[in-house]
Amino acid sequence: MVKLHEYQSKVILRRAGIRTPKGGAVITAGEARAMAIGIGSPVVVKAQVFVTGRAGKHLIHFADSPDDAADAADRLLKQSFDGLTMDCALVEERVKIEREFYVGLIIDVSARAPVLIFSPVGGSGIEEIAAAHPDQVIRQPIDIRHGLRDFEARDMCRQAGLTGKLMLQVSQFLMQFYEAARSSEARAAEINPLALTASGDLLALDARFTVDDYAVFRHPELNIDIAREFDRPPTKLERIAWDIEKSDYRGTFYFIQMETNFTKGQRAVGFHGNGGGGAMISMDALFARGFKIANFVDTSGNPPASKVYRAARLILSQTGIDGYFLSGSGVASQEQYHSARGLVKAFMDVPLNVPAVIRIGGNGEEQAIEILHRANGSFPAPVEAYGRDTTPDDCTARMDALIASYTPVDNPTPRTVPTAAEPYRFETVTGGTITYDHAVCQTCTTKACVHSCDPKILSLDGDKPVLNISREDAKRGGCTECLACEVECYFNGARGAYITLPIPGLEEPAHA
Ligand code: SF4
Ligand code: SF4
Repeated sequence: MVKLHEYQSKVILRRAGIRTPKGGAVITAGEARAMAIGIGSPVVVKAQVFVTGRAGKHLIHFADSPDDAADAADRLLKQSFDGLTMDCALVEERVKIEREFYVGLIIDVSARAPVLIFSPVGGSGIEEIAAAHPDQVIRQPIDIRHGLRDFEARDMCRQAGLTGKLMLQVSQFLMQFYEAARSSEARAAEINPLALTASGDLLALDARFTVDDYAVFRHPELNIDIAREFDRPPTKLERIAWDIEKSDYRGTFYFIQMETNFTKGQRAVGFHGNGGGGAMISMDALFARGFKIANFVDTSGNPPASKVYRAARLILSQTGIDGYFLSGSGVASQEQYHSARGLVKAFMDVPLNVPAVIRIGGNGEEQAIEILHRANGSFPAPVEAYGRDTTPDDCTARMDALIASYTPVDNPTPRTVPTAAEPYRFETVTGGTITYDHAVCQTCTTKACVHSCDPKILSLDGDKPVLNISREDAKRGGCTECLACEVECYFNGARGAYITLPIPGLEEPAHA
């Protein structure tokens, strides 16, 4: 689910015809001054962060003049909240309020329906009021075949004690609000407070929408650049990870950074899960043994080796980690040897300079373990691989022992892209390039690339590996980026194959 900031949520409301205070988002003090001049009245300047009770945290300021607004925005935008700088502030007209209400909508899994919530008391402390006076919170499950019907909206208002013109006004508002939530495919939406102004208008003073992340692609108007749930602006690596995920539909790659500043001796690990529930148990095992966890990554749902490779590269790019720990469900149906090859290529390219423990249970785990063990010794740090029969706790014990006994080498040399004397090249679906040096291939006795190619798109032309499909078809996905041709060539062939897989934003391997 993707949480939207207040200013983004208000865009949805305005599109549905719901009034919000005049104003908009700013990213500099100068913009805040100009916005306040345009509004032409005292303003309120609000930090755009995902916390409740912003007033009590000094994240909301009132400003009587454009200069005051500029000062307030400057203070907020330079402020660090939860270790992260704020992206923007919202500058809005200050409104005279007669009365406040609460309006919300959630997708209630047990009711199997959206449930609209209305309270005649809104504003700060609504949770406490609702707990103390449950009769003040009116709930209405909605049949999505009909939407919120007029009589249902009026009935909610009557239950809340509203009568006459106000009852009609609020019931119309509830219907507009439901349409706003439905049209944006919100999983949750809230206006608090909904203000009745001195001039008799209903105005959404504060709003929060949470949108289904799988629906984001249908809503370019929301300008959501990362369809992930964050309580803060995304980090550089999280942005890179999202760019990888959004342009490759195969499997799932989830990346979130949890901690960044580690001191020596904290035993921080880069965490790589493959399968949600098992990944959680594995993280608990790490915490129980006193490890710090730099990130949570999940690669599951049968991702290609290239996606696992990119995930591993991002994990290893974090400074201060002492170990690499992969563990997941243990019974994953995905073919784990693809993941193993993705890991091996990443460990060779970087190269791996922290010990790695890989618990890679599931389909093809014996082959995956063999691939990882075979590669051990090809990079500075050791790799140990285990299957489903080894518990996460036993694996964390091995992580502990390996970190204690390993001394990282100084400035390990990253692998370089070799220069091919007689290159045979084609491109892959995510912008990768596969090169076979036919001058080397002539000397190769195993032709391991052809035998290991999972979708069987390679054949021999004499003694040289070539595509048996067109280059266009290979690029359209005929080449599944299983990475077998390079990894098997490296360990069983004459090392004439090399694959480049770009990760925009991350340092790329240098050419020889
Ligand atoms: S395994 Fe490597 S060296 Fe051997 S034919 Fe294939 S690409 Fe060439
Ligand atoms: S050419 Fe074959 S072996 Fe090489 S990455 Fe593509 S699918 Fe895998």
